[in-house]
Amino acid sequence: MAQSLNPYTYLHPLLLLLLLLHVSSPLADPSLYDSFLECLKTDTNPFDQSYVSDIVFAQSNVSYPNVFENYIRNTRFNTSSTPKPSLIITPPHEAHVQSTVICAKSVIPIQIKIRSGGHDYEGISYVSNHQPFIVLDLFNLHNITVDVQKNLVVVHAGATLGVLYYKIWNNSRTHGFPTGVGPTVGVGGHVSSGGYDNMLGRYGLSVDNVIDARIVDVNGRILDKESMGEDLFWAIKGGGGEDVGAKHNRSCRSVAGSRSPCGRQALDQAADVATELDGGKRFQNGESFGGDVVSRRCRRARDAIGETVSSAWAKEGELYETTWVESVLWWANYPLGTKPETLIDRNLNSADFLKRKSDYVQNPIPRSGLEVLWKKMIELGKTGLVFNPYGGRMGEIPSDATPFPHRAGNLFKIQYSVTWNPRSAFLAYKDLDIGINSFDENSYEEGEVYGLKYFNDNFERLVKVKTEVDPENFFRNEQSIPVLPRK
Ligand SMILES: Cc1cc2nc3c(=O)[nH]c(=O)nc-3n(C[C@H](O)[C@H](O)[C@H](O)COP(=O)(O)OP(=O)(O)OC[C@H]3O[C@@H](n4cnc5c(N)ncnc54)[C@H](O)[C@@H]3O)c2cc1C
Repeated sequence: MAQSLNPYTYLHPLLLLLLLLHVSSPLADPSLYDSFLECLKTDTNPFDQSYVSDIVFAQSNVSYPNVFENYIRNTRFNTSSTPKPSLIITPPHEAHVQSTVICAKSVIPIQIKIRSGGHDYEGISYVSNHQPFIVLDLFNLHNITVDVQKNLVVVHAGATLGVLYYKIWNNSRTHGFPTGVGPTVGVGGHVSSGGYDNMLGRYGLSVDNVIDARIVDVNGRILDKESMGEDLFWAIKGGGGEDVGAKHNRSCRSVAGSRSPCGRQALDQAADVATELDGGKRFQNGESFGGDVVSRRCRRARDAIGETVSSAWAKEGELYETTWVESVLWWANYPLGTKPETLIDRNLNSADFLKRKSDYVQNPIPRSGLEVLWKKMIELGKTGLVFNPYGGRMGEIPSDATPFPHRAGNLFKIQYSVTWNPRSAFLAYKDLDIGINSFDENSYEEGEVYGLKYFNDNFERLVKVKTEVDPENFFRNEQSIPVLPRK
């Protein structure tokens, strides 16, 4: 009698029913799982069978929801109606990336989505409107080696920026790398789209400092800079994510200084904007960064800003110098003094509901325009505007040096979280409102709509490379580079 009052007695049949439903769901597609596994076992060399089973997650696997949701970084795409991948493959070695590409082509063929950190603003690394699809999730591929003597970092695509920062800091207090301000962002997606941080005025983008890469092409071959050739190497440095292949390893030049005071570099950037605005004076880079000159440099930065904008926000006591890694933490909203170890935290399963858009500004916004802007923001409430000043090194690198075209002539980038109609856009701030590709007979024309906004004149060269290396358009997503129409 006492036992029948126990609520768990009634839950057992329900639980059993749920499990049965789950296992027999048509989405689980056991035949796809079996044939994919079989293919991986045959095509990956060498590793044992049980190992392969450990890296492939079908929807019926109890760990599937966790594996899928850990790297969903936008709550908009974490709903029961979000289309889910039939399989998630989580390779720990590049050989598995190769065999996944080969098997995805030969088993059905089936569309692959590639996810590194999962921060894509539109979730296109793990969501697709074309069923079925699989996700190649690279979070297990996260090795980083730092060679201070050679100023070199080799990093796998699944590493996060935070761990990259930490590893560099752990090896040297005087080196850094220009990446981004979000520690949980993945290296794979970040570097695929350009990658800026507070050092861009001095060192340019992440892609400007990438000196080699290893990718798996559409035929499952591993290519490096030499074997992939000049055009493809150019295309992968900012031409988007899974357009031409799965990138799993990059060599990057680290940047060195007697100190790496990013806090000050942020001021350099502000000063560069001031320079562009007054069309003349430039706050000089490239001096030594000894502590004794810092306060003087801060004063000069403030003066440069103050002459053209306003010194109200840059008062003496509000300027402080940080090391590079301290500035990274500060920009990630941690208080000064936070331990660098904090950057290692991948912060799994944490996400916000968000929508971002971007735009580039070539002419100064007049005071009256700014006033309208502020008033509108106050009226709308929860909106955000981030201005990233350009200038400096960004203005020196030609717009066709990499696919990322927004160089000289751009005063700053705006990132905003309200609906807007952009004149041009930053690829890393993926925005499907600009246009998506259905990959039918109008694919090229559809691609032009968003492609010209992201890449300006570099779009045509990207189409040419894409057509050469992946003529069947196997690697594709909603905003990937289209191939040229067949004649
Ligand atoms: C909190 C936050 C902070 C950010 N801060 C910055 C910043 O400071 N500077 C900046 O430039 N940008 C910034 N971004 C934008 C960010 O760089 C992009 O959203 C980037 O694409 C995310 O990379 P990911 O690997 O985390 O995302 P994912 O969702 O994994 O991938 C993004 C895209 O790249 C593709 N892709 C991922 N890995 C690979 C791979 N190995 N091979 C081929 N294709 C791949 C995916 O398929 C997808 O199309 C920020 C974004 C967020 C959410």
